[in-house]
Amino acid sequence: MPGTTNSTHDVDVLIVGGGIAGLSLASQLAGKCRVALVEAEPSLAYHTSARSAQQLIPSYGPEPVQDLTRRTLAVLADAVDDAGRRLAWPSRFLLVGTAAQVEAEAHGGMRRLTPDEARTLAPNLRAGAFEAAALDTESVRTDALALLADHEARARAGGVTIHPGSPVHTAQRVGEGWLVGAGAEGFHATNVVNAAGAWADDLAILFGVERLGLQPYRRTAALVSLAQPLDPDSPMVCAADDSWYFRPDEAGALVSPSESEPSRAEDAVPRPGDVERTIELIRRVADLPVTGIIRAWTGLRTSPQDGLPIMGYDPEAPGFFWLAGQGGYGFQTSSALAEDAAGQLLAGQQAVRTGEHPVSETARALDPHRLSVRR
Ligand SMILES: Cc1cc2nc3c(=O)[nH]c(=O)nc-3n(C[C@H](O)[C@H](O)[C@H](O)COP(=O)(O)OP(=O)(O)OC[C@H]3O[C@@H](n4cnc5c(N)ncnc54)[C@H](O)[C@@H]3O)c2cc1C
Repeated sequence: MPGTTNSTHDVDVLIVGGGIAGLSLASQLAGKCRVALVEAEPSLAYHTSARSAQQLIPSYGPEPVQDLTRRTLAVLADAVDDAGRRLAWPSRFLLVGTAAQVEAEAHGGMRRLTPDEARTLAPNLRAGAFEAAALDTESVRTDALALLADHEARARAGGVTIHPGSPVHTAQRVGEGWLVGAGAEGFHATNVVNAAGAWADDLAILFGVERLGLQPYRRTAALVSLAQPLDPDSPMVCAADDSWYFRPDEAGALVSPSESEPSRAEDAVPRPGDVERTIELIRRVADLPVTGIIRAWTGLRTSPQDGLPIMGYDPEAPGFFWLAGQGGYGFQTSSALAEDAAGQLLAGQQAVRTGEHPVSETARALDPHRLSVRR
C-alpha cells in the first residue's frame, strides 16, 4: 500500500519494470552487484513482453537496431534453458509486395526472390498476387515466455530480489542515490533503471526527471486455427506495405494487422473486427483456411521520436538510467542492450561520462542525450 513501507533495502541497482528489458538486465547483472527489480503488476511480463510475435529479424530496423539484433542472435544461438530446451531456432522472414515496396523495405542483405521462388517457400501464397519478394535467412524465432523465465531464474540464482505487485509510488533524491517506495517495499538505490515500457515517461516524471517524449503505439495479433496446417518450416510472411503478417504457429497461424496507432499507456485490448479484417487482407495474397480465432491481444510498442531505443544515464539526473523505447525490437535487441546497459551501470556514471568506460558507436546512438524533446 502506498506510503506504508515494510523495510528499506540498500541496492546498487533498482530496476523498475519486469518485462524483457528489466529481466534481461537483471540476469546480466546477477551476482555482480546488489540488484532488486520491482514490477507493478502481480505477475512479471504481463504487458507488452507477453504479447509479441517472438520473431528476431536481423534485417529489421535502422542500423543500430540491426547491430544489437546481430549480437543478440549470437548470444541466443546456442542458448538453452534449465530443461535443455532451445530458446531460439531458425525461422525465415519473407517480405512480399510490389517491386517498389519490396525495394524500399528490404534491408540488411535480404535476398531478392522471384514470386515463384517465394511460393516454393510459402506454397499458400497466391500466384499473381504479389510482384516481388525478399528473404531474410538469418531470422530466428524465440519462445518469449521461456526466455523471460530463463532470465528470471538466472537473476534469482545470482541474488537479485524480484518484487511483483510493487508499483513505484514515491521517489526522492537522497545524497548520491534515490529513496524509492514501491508497493510495501522501500529501496535506497545508487542507480535506478527505468525499464517501465509504455510508462517510462510517467516514471521519469515521478522521479522529477524530464520525460523524453516516448509514444506508445498499439499493435494487435491473434492466433487462428486452420483447416489445414501450414508447413512449420514455412517463413513468416509480411506485407511490404506493413498492412499484415502471418506465420505458422503450433496452434495454426499467428496473424497481425501490423497497425501502429498512437495510444496512451494502458492495458490495451483488440478492437472488434480488427482480426477479421486482417484475415480478409491476407486472403487476397495467401490461402489461409481460417476456421476460428483462438485468442487475440494488443500490446503497446513504445518509441521516442527518432524510433531508436534509449539506453544510458540521464544527462541531468544522476543515477537515473534509461532502458526504454524498444518499439517493435524489444526481444531482438534484448541481450545486447542488457550487456551494454550492465557494462555502463557496473562502470558507474562518472566512468561513462569521462570516457574511462568506452562505449560503442551503437551505444552512443542510443544515449538519451540525443533526444531534443527537453531542449
Ligand atoms: C503484437 C506485438 C508484436 C511484437 N513482436 C515483436 C517481435 O516479433 N520481436 C521483437 O523483438 N519485439 C516485438 N514486439 C515488441 C516487444 O514486445 C517490446 O519491445 C518489448 O516487449 C518491450 O519490453 P519492455 O520490457 O520494455 O516493456 P514491458 O514488457 O511493457 O515491461 C514494462 C513493465 O514495467 C512495468 N511498470 C510500469 N510502470 C511501473 C512502475 N511505476 N512501477 C513498477 N513497474 C512498472 C509494467 O507493468 C510492465 O510490466 C512486439 C510487440 C507487440 C505488441
